[in-house]
Amino acid sequence: MVIILKQNHEQRQLDNLLKWLSELNLKMTLVKGEQSTILGLIGDTSVVDIDMIKAIDIVESVKRIQEPFKAANRKFHPDDTIIDVAGRKIGGGNFTLVAGPCSIESREQILDIAVKVKSCGAAMLRGGAFKPRTSPYAFQGLRAEGLELLHETKKETGLPIVTEIMNVNHIDMFANVDVIQVGARNMQHFELLKELGRLNKPILLKRGLANTIEELLMSAEYIMSGGNKNIILCERGIRTFETYTRNTLDLSAIPLLKELTHLPVVVDPSHSTGISRLVKPMSLAAAAAGADGLIIEVHNDPSHALCDGAQSLTPDAFAELVGSLNNILQAVGKNPVY
Ligand code: PEP
Ligand code: MN
Repeated sequence: MVIILKQNHEQRQLDNLLKWLSELNLKMTLVKGEQSTILGLIGDTSVVDIDMIKAIDIVESVKRIQEPFKAANRKFHPDDTIIDVAGRKIGGGNFTLVAGPCSIESREQILDIAVKVKSCGAAMLRGGAFKPRTSPYAFQGLRAEGLELLHETKKETGLPIVTEIMNVNHIDMFANVDVIQVGARNMQHFELLKELGRLNKPILLKRGLANTIEELLMSAEYIMSGGNKNIILCERGIRTFETYTRNTLDLSAIPLLKELTHLPVVVDPSHSTGISRLVKPMSLAAAAAGADGLIIEVHNDPSHALCDGAQSLTPDAFAELVGSLNNILQAVGKNPVY
């Protein structure tokens, strides 16, 4: 339920209303936006008598929220959420690039790629230390050593780092990671989501291979209901009957999500296509559809990559892609963070 307050209310009147509602055991979020002040109520709102609330002086209107996601709902928070990652902004009209290899392979590899993507305009470095692989015999990532190399690369380049967590017991190891990624396969790992909800750290939440937009938002809700409101949603393609591409990029999810939620939405054109030559056209399409940024796999030697070489761009191809984005960003009124 949302209660829209009159603009000229007095603090004393608001305090009285908050006190009364808190006695009903409801969670409340007060959002002072540019246009209005909104009080969101989460919990069993059937105990609330709408007519009584409407009769209160400072109340403009009251609406019940039909959707099961509340904190993530744009009706609760009309303005875009802007997430600040060490000074780099995501959301609210900004366009942010995250780039780097699928997995960290060596000190030289991650540093070389980081320096190159930074010079092209990447605001953050991605790189997997713990890799979810279909085969138990495939390279599983350098794990703790990979995290260490990522931290060293951050020190050298100043780029904030984004890396995937797969295990609740690893949370302490991720204490100095700037953005924790929840991969597609763990989008509904609810115990992990609950623990991440206790942190005050940005979470990049990827859509599951077979999950609906509503399920993605409910997973964001798991994290937000624990108190962590710093969620970046990621459309990374879903599984369909098509076999030419690794997944099918659901471009319509971008404007839909932007309508349904205030959270920023980035697109992963690498995992959604699986084919490096499709990364540029799909990146441009994602920007045109209103994405707040892109997360792209870049490798200094794609043909020898230990993971996802076929979808990885060379640094040169990444530079060319960034150059092509400008016209589109101008057309959609987005401000590049580079
Ligand atoms: C990744 O980003 O390296 C990854 C494994 O992505 P996804 O979870 O989208 O498959
Ligand atoms: Mn990958």
